Amino acid sequence: MDLSVVIPIYNEEGNIPLLYDRLKGVLDGMKVDWEMMFVNDGSRDKSMELLRELGRRDPRVKYLDFSRNFGHQIAVTAGLDHSIGKAIVIIDADLQDPPELIGDLYARHKEGFEVVYARRRARKGEGFLKKFTAKLFYRLLSRITSIDIPLDTGDFRIMDRKVVNVLKQMPEQHKFLRGQISWIGFRQTYIEYDRDQRHAGETGYTYSKMIRFALDGITSFSDYPLKLTTMAGFLVSGVAFLLILYALYSRLVTGDYEKGWASEMVSILFIGGIQLIGIGIIGEYIARISHNVKQRPLYIVADSNTNEKQTHENEKGKKELEDNRD
Ligand code: UDP
Ligand code: MG
Repeated sequence: MDLSVVIPIYNEEGNIPLLYDRLKGVLDGMKVDWEMMFVNDGSRDKSMELLRELGRRDPRVKYLDFSRNFGHQIAVTAGLDHSIGKAIVIIDADLQDPPELIGDLYARHKEGFEVVYARRRARKGEGFLKKFTAKLFYRLLSRITSIDIPLDTGDFRIMDRKVVNVLKQMPEQHKFLRGQISWIGFRQTYIEYDRDQRHAGETGYTYSKMIRFALDGITSFSDYPLKLTTMAGFLVSGVAFLLILYALYSRLVTGDYEKGWASEMVSILFIGGIQLIGIGIIGEYIARISHNVKQRPLYIVADSNTNEKQTHENEKGKKELEDNRD
């Protein structure tokens, strides 16, 4: 198997037929052995029926059906776990990432790059707030993390089997794949593209999912927020110390001390606020620690048309990588 294409699916009934046609056209034109690995992430529409039908018609269509919605990053992870290609492409189902680009990604990969990601030049049909928050997030993240997470890049990319095998060994429960892949290293490059509009349906990324995703990215790759609370603590203590001096001075020297109520309230509220923020940030990290300690399975597959042998081959790939390392 030369190429696996991993596609997470959440309520994409309006996109699956066209996606399949366009993908199939591109892949057949590339003269490679390919498979499509669809992961149905608890869709509530007809997506799963469509996938089953495709799987019956075309044996190169594989699917996993989750027992519920586990989220985009987990769906992609499951797809990577079960795909067997020497190279693996991750692509969104809504045709925002043009399948036609896969040929270019594959060509660059063949030149010797283990990871070729697609970087968005323009994003059509997305709201101002989404674009603005995404831009802000990626810039913030690159400032506070020590690894180079490429700007304006989603998960649309091609990866060598080597990279996927390493990824499968990274056990964290809160996936931030684009960061993990940067962290893994190897030779990485990118091509640029204009992001299209979503073909049909609506985004499955609600703002609450986006915030969770952003927090996962930050907490997985940066201790900066924790350091920030320490810094804020020092700053506030410094200011408080000056205020104490001032209070003592008013009390003992000028005798003008009853008017201090306002400043007292201000400092109590201020310090209280800083403390709550600090506790909140620590809580975010502790919550993630506790999730990882629980060691629950990352996802539950209710149904699939992939077979044991394939999973077995993946295990073999993992083993080979370990052997190569020794
Ligand atoms: N998706 C998923 N699970 C979710 C949300 C989204 O598998 O909980 C899939 C979705 O079907 C699509 C991809 O992830 O293939 C990207 O999602 P979407 O287009 O909704 O996000 P956006 O492009 O708006 O950021
Ligand atoms: Mg989309």
